[in-house]
Amino acid sequence: MDKILFLAHTEPDGSLAKPALEVLPAALALGGELTVALIGASTQPAADQLAACGAVRFLAIEGAAFADSRYATDAAAAETVAKASAAAIVIAPHTPRSARSLPGVAGRLNGTVDTHATAVSLVNGAPAVTRWFYRQRMEAVLTRTERPWFILVECGNYAAYTRAPGSAIVERLALPDVVTRTTVTGIHAPQADEQTIRPEAKLLFVAGAGWTKKQSDGAVHAGEAEQLILGMLHAAQASLGGSKSLVDSTGEGQAVLKCMTHLNQVGQTGATPRHPKGLATCCHGEEPHVVGWRFINQRRAVNLDPNCGWARGKADVVYIADAFEVVRHVNRLLAE
Ligand SMILES: Cc1cc2nc3c(=O)[nH]c(=O)nc-3n(C[C@H](O)[C@H](O)[C@H](O)COP(=O)(O)OP(=O)(O)OC[C@H]3O[C@@H](n4cnc5c(N)ncnc54)[C@H](O)[C@@H]3O)c2cc1C
Repeated sequence: MDKILFLAHTEPDGSLAKPALEVLPAALALGGELTVALIGASTQPAADQLAACGAVRFLAIEGAAFADSRYATDAAAAETVAKASAAAIVIAPHTPRSARSLPGVAGRLNGTVDTHATAVSLVNGAPAVTRWFYRQRMEAVLTRTERPWFILVECGNYAAYTRAPGSAIVERLALPDVVTRTTVTGIHAPQADEQTIRPEAKLLFVAGAGWTKKQSDGAVHAGEAEQLILGMLHAAQASLGGSKSLVDSTGEGQAVLKCMTHLNQVGQTGATPRHPKGLATCCHGEEPHVVGWRFINQRRAVNLDPNCGWARGKADVVYIADAFEVVRHVNRLLAE
């Protein structure tokens, strides 16, 4: 069996975050001789987290230069640990950091890379990767003969590794001098409260174009709509999705919801989020939109129109009601 390397970047406190713990089981599933490689400012807490995983070696490259994502240092570190492990298969979590650096490392080592893998398995004794193609319409299982084979596995596909921590003996590798032209001066990220896309949320709250249309009094109430939607997102810690009509109108200078961008769009030409529950409001439920809901387990919708697409078999429950009234009331209950 091929030698396996599990490669992950550590958090500022030196530990591994959930996405990495969700990808380690993919490496364990192959059953080959396993080496763990950790890269970051510090790595001992992560090695101790994985002490009982059955790895024969723990390699680390650590230091302040590896605290932040930067191509030059990340690629040099990954190249060093991949060579030291002599692994044929390198499995890493599909984080932005590994997605930026590992394909280049595969090239340097005359290997190959597959990204967005959802599973790793053995087919006739050979490692195989499962991934989706063509916007998640076709699933393929593929094997390759090139080595080393870098496989970036999406988080959320395996139950996170939970064995008890211990104390691991870590081999710290020296890194050859790396020429860097990039200095990381800090990270600009939105406040947690401004963040509307929350992949981990239990609820996907979808807003459709109806929120910015004339209501029963003949007027548009986009300001109140935005307040109600943000209130719901905040109170339920939900993730925000939008229909194409709504996100397009936001870009066309019509009555807009400022919190809505094309990143929120759900559907055929948008995202296919995975949340246990979804609630669509003021959204008609047309097929190109609903096709983006296929991984949402429980679907509910609020619409004034008893003939909307949701009512025709696309939702588990449809409330025929004014979404302004419903969300206003739900927000009041959540506040209590
Ligand atoms: C090739 C192609 C790709 C597409 N891809 C996508 C995609 O990825 N995602 C996507 O979303 N669409 C996509 N579409 C567009 C899709 O077909 C629909 O046009 C779009 O989803 C409609 O958006 P909507 O339901 O928000 O708006 P509308 O169709 O305008 O519906 C608004 C709804 O709000 C309801 N409403 C209004 N006021 C209230 C109220 N107070 N309370 C409750 N309900 C209210 C109305 O009854 C109505 O049902 C695509 C279309 C094509 C042709």
